[in-house]
Amino acid sequence: MKSKAAVLREFNAPLSLEEIEVPPLEQGEVLVTVEAAGVCGSDVHMWSGKDPRTPLPMILGHEGVGRVEEVAGEKKYLSGEDVSSGDLIIWNRGVVCGECYFCTRGEASLCPSRWAYGIHRSISERPYLVGCYSEYIILDRKTDILKIEPETDPAVLVSASCSGATTAHAFDIRSPQPGDTVVVQGPGPIGIFAVAFAVRSKAGRIIVIGGTEERLTICGDMGATDILDRHGLTKKQRYEHIMDITEGRGADIVYECVGNSEVLEEGLSLLRRGGALITIGFGAPGGSVTIDCYKDLTVRNLSVYGAWVSDAEHLVKALKLVRGREEQFARLVTHRVPLKEADKGIRAMKKREAIKAVLVRE
Ligand code: ZN
Ligand code: ZN
Repeated sequence: MKSKAAVLREFNAPLSLEEIEVPPLEQGEVLVTVEAAGVCGSDVHMWSGKDPRTPLPMILGHEGVGRVEEVAGEKKYLSGEDVSSGDLIIWNRGVVCGECYFCTRGEASLCPSRWAYGIHRSISERPYLVGCYSEYIILDRKTDILKIEPETDPAVLVSASCSGATTAHAFDIRSPQPGDTVVVQGPGPIGIFAVAFAVRSKAGRIIVIGGTEERLTICGDMGATDILDRHGLTKKQRYEHIMDITEGRGADIVYECVGNSEVLEEGLSLLRRGGALITIGFGAPGGSVTIDCYKDLTVRNLSVYGAWVSDAEHLVKALKLVRGREEQFARLVTHRVPLKEADKGIRAMKKREAIKAVLVRE
């Protein structure tokens, strides 16, 4: 049996449509038909050679929803049930060892042996099919898998596995108290998830800063109370707005969802004393900031956190969030393209025409 796949062989060039032999499964592995594969901003970075992790030739795609074709031996869901053929599933995109210092302390996303589908492995190593831009994917025996209800739209759920789960991680690090003022910088998929999580935490004011009208509208519909268009308002005006609504204190929490050092710097300036900034946006290198350690950090008693990827419990939380607001999250999926047109999906994300492009099974 062969699997069609869109292979990244050369940066900034069209993906190569190839047929790859599906190898016999090893104990605990699961063969899955990919129903939907999300095109993530990180895929665009990898495609253009900006992500230092990219092992060519490879199959991109770390966000997937699929149907179980075959299970070799025994494999269980996170819930403890047996994985069986025909089930619709989503999986944790990162695979960890389960035994190291980090894995045993509940910080599995920091496992030094963690690898992710569609990011770390090349097609030159068995089991070859380890990215979602493919007809089939083979899940490693250590993958955390969740069964999902058959009536759900796979394309809507894919973003839970990356932007959703990573945002859930950021909210685990620091979540607003009821009534808090929260700033979300960047209304892309991560920012939209941040708004939804902030609403769930009962934040009082949820301010979104961004420049794309369609995305800002979705943030407003998700529950953002203040939309600050960065094209219409200067940095000073944005600062004044936030100071105005907080009696001159500044925001309690800022979620940086862009991955840009200037944005992060602005985020720090918007915090109240004792506030916290959590950055979720840096999926690839995005610059540095200079901080006056006394004036900008210590005297203001700030906390600054990075949220790096996510683990299985974050996926569970993101999935729950999406399932509860499925119609709204469906609006993120602006482009659906078949696997053979994967390039179109990448282009739509690169040009920012798409909020979320998803490769769907034909
Ligand atoms: Zn991603
Ligand atoms: Zn580990």
